[in-house]
Amino acid sequence: MDKAALAERYARVKAMLPGGVVLVAVSKTRTVEEVQALYDLGQRDFGENYPQELRDKQPLLPPDIRWHFIGHLQGNKVKYVAPFAFLVHGVDSEKLLDELDKRAASAGRILGVLLQVHIAQEETKHGFLPDELRALCATAPLQHRWPNLQFRGLMGMATNTEDQARVRHEFHALALLRQELAASGAVDPRAFTELSMGMTGDLREALAEGSTMVRIGTAIFGQRG
Ligand SMILES: *Cc1c(COP(=O)(O)O)cnc(C)c1O
Repeated sequence: MDKAALAERYARVKAMLPGGVVLVAVSKTRTVEEVQALYDLGQRDFGENYPQELRDKQPLLPPDIRWHFIGHLQGNKVKYVAPFAFLVHGVDSEKLLDELDKRAASAGRILGVLLQVHIAQEETKHGFLPDELRALCATAPLQHRWPNLQFRGLMGMATNTEDQARVRHEFHALALLRQELAASGAVDPRAFTELSMGMTGDLREALAEGSTMVRIGTAIFGQRG
């Protein structure tokens, strides 16, 4: 591992972020040594996609890391992340909310979650449809159904395209939906403030549309092998 190159890429990414935007360093497939090296440069928020990989890495790294789970989570894997995750970004079904709530309760903690919204023009991206979330929020405050979860905002992945206008349009729709839901009475508007959007390829568009959390892997660690 080239620590000088890592430090340079990390500094370049941080320089692009306005104050207040949280940088989640996406460390999936990276070694414990690489994560530790970035930690030593001051990074504390890390994102992982694979539950078992996160479960195995977490005990080997400093306890003050805030671990974000950013991947698609299956119900039977929730137990690997619920005991210590700082924030679960990709929550895309009521069944998964049920499971997260149950596991948070048995771990004796309140677990922060972001609801993932399907904003891309691609079949492969997960997430609630905007109208599904509207319907969910029209029934009752989410906190009543899932008392061990804290609803912190929305997460979305834009279409993987060179068409920057399309990407901005999708992020813009996500930002508007967050505002709408925050005002609906279904969530605590003081907590429902986060917009997790933007990766290496669409960071600029996400920041322009008001992202509060960017999930960056490649631009920090280099190409995944
Ligand atoms: C891998 C991944 C990222 C980071 O992607 P890069 O292009 O390496 O920055 C962000 N979000 C999710 C959900 C990912 O799976």
